Amino acid sequence: MCQKHNEITQNPSHFEGTAEELATATNVQVNFMDYIKDMKFFDPHIHMTSRTTDDYQALADAGVVAIIEPAFWLGQPRTGLSTFKDYYSSLIGWERFRSSQFGIKHYCTIGLNSREANNEALAEEVMEILPLYLYKEGVVGVGEIGFDDQTPAEEKYYRLQLELAKEAGLPVQVHTPHRDKKKGTERSMAIALEHGISPEMVIIDHNNEETVKSVLDQGFYAAFTIYPFTKMGNERMVEVVKQYGSERIMINSAADWGISDPLAIPKTAALMKIKGISDHDIRLVTYQNAIDAFAQSGQINVDDFENPQEIDQSLKFNGNTILRGGQQPRVDKNALIIR
Ligand SMILES: [Zn+2]
Repeated sequence: MCQKHNEITQNPSHFEGTAEELATATNVQVNFMDYIKDMKFFDPHIHMTSRTTDDYQALADAGVVAIIEPAFWLGQPRTGLSTFKDYYSSLIGWERFRSSQFGIKHYCTIGLNSREANNEALAEEVMEILPLYLYKEGVVGVGEIGFDDQTPAEEKYYRLQLELAKEAGLPVQVHTPHRDKKKGTERSMAIALEHGISPEMVIIDHNNEETVKSVLDQGFYAAFTIYPFTKMGNERMVEVVKQYGSERIMINSAADWGISDPLAIPKTAALMKIKGISDHDIRLVTYQNAIDAFAQSGQINVDDFENPQEIDQSLKFNGNTILRGGQQPRVDKNALIIR
């Protein structure tokens, strides 16, 4: 983490840069909700398994109506196949239910992440069970897959999973590496094309200024992760949209168990608004493009989140509820008083 960021004592969120920029940023932090009234957001990459009910509430309050949770690395190596099974099951089961209790439509992508592709014995077993989950309702892609250290094993399981995606007719959500990003991104795209997958079925994630042009030029979707301190801050993101427009570009929070911000999309939308980006372009990069990309799975019905149902927190999932002993189900989310 770079030293410059540590000098900012106020909550720095995604912001970095000059004193003037910071002043704008601070203002946005206080008031960002004022700039996004009546906007709807779709976060196509967020790991809610690692987040709290407070985060779900904050997402709902900020206008995030639907999310995609990609299967990913849990932060430490798994010791056996059954933990993959339980994890995939929770993505299409309990986590989806938890999300519904805050009025947020939850989808997921299923895949073997690149880091764990390097445990080949286990990877072989995971490949066997992936088809059991890929065809479930609400699974909108194979992901997140791709390269981490760019090892031969990662390439092998990336290729095998591209074939699974092709067979299932599902979009592919590609994680690009933090090290040697440019090379890893080019390699990910070349391999997808080699497998006969059309670029509009592939969402290349974690782009930056160095990768975006080539991704767009070759016809792929370009996703950007807005992360505090690393990857893309949202002021840089505003510049990317100014330069490249809004076609096939989408942003996400990729919020997970690390330092990250689940409100990255609404905050970036507010900043875009302040910086003069049109409502039309904001809507495309924070909502519509992600829907268009992942709806190619045939698993997204926009009615489910554009005309949301009443929330009933007294519902149960396999006998379990998000309420703790004695808690009353939430009735009105706008109530000021917390009892
Ligand atoms: Zn992720």
